[in-house]
Amino acid sequence: MERLQKVMAHAGVASRRGAEKLITAGHVKVNGETVTELGVKVGHHDHVTVDEVPIQTEAPVYILMNKPRQVVSTVSDDKHRKTVIDLLNDEVKERVYPVGRLDYDTTGLLLLTNDGQLANQLTHPRYEVDKTYVAKVQGIPTNDELKHLRQGVTIEGKVTAPAKSKLLSSDQQKQTAIVSVTIHEGKNHQVKKMLQAVGHSVIKLKRESYAFLTLKGVQPGDFRELKADEVKELK
Ligand code: URA
Repeated sequence: MERLQKVMAHAGVASRRGAEKLITAGHVKVNGETVTELGVKVGHHDHVTVDEVPIQTEAPVYILMNKPRQVVSTVSDDKHRKTVIDLLNDEVKERVYPVGRLDYDTTGLLLLTNDGQLANQLTHPRYEVDKTYVAKVQGIPTNDELKHLRQGVTIEGKVTAPAKSKLLSSDQQKQTAIVSVTIHEGKNHQVKKMLQAVGHSVIKLKRESYAFLTLKGVQPGDFRELKADEVKELK
């Protein structure tokens, strides 16, 4: 447990003196209750807000997970399905959450963190983090269809940014193909919709990489902490 003003100063909200002023002026809530006295101590599980904006009360952690199928990438689920947080077991004590989403049936690289600032930055389209997916699709995409993806396709009335796309292999007999698609946007079901827009429904989807990060050494359902230099490079 640490004094509230110290935790606020650590989170970069203000200096300790500045934090004291914010507290006494009634800008700060702990677990939903306004605190105006200076003696209060808070721990990692307390929820602290300044003018309703949550601040970080615990050390930042960054997890790279290989998400399996049939797991939701949210913190909790109304339908009581398994979540990516359940997969962390008790090994991660901090209150982390996923950076963006992968669909229930999509596998692969998912970052989780409690660093709100980095999470916001990474999910902002302007930041343009490249995400590479490998999809098994129905039918075999033609060169023209792949070119179309590279130029951007219209989904829900909007043209997507150009996606890098490549045919990796095809099965003439089964009429299926494996394609890689790299996007930097993060619209809902974007890869499935882009492939559907050029005439190919997705049978399986896996995110292979996120910026320079890959799944190397991380089995489905497993996770690892990012190294300090990886975190630095992401920022
Ligand atoms: N695009 C999709 O369609 N689904 C995902 O899970 C991720 C990207």
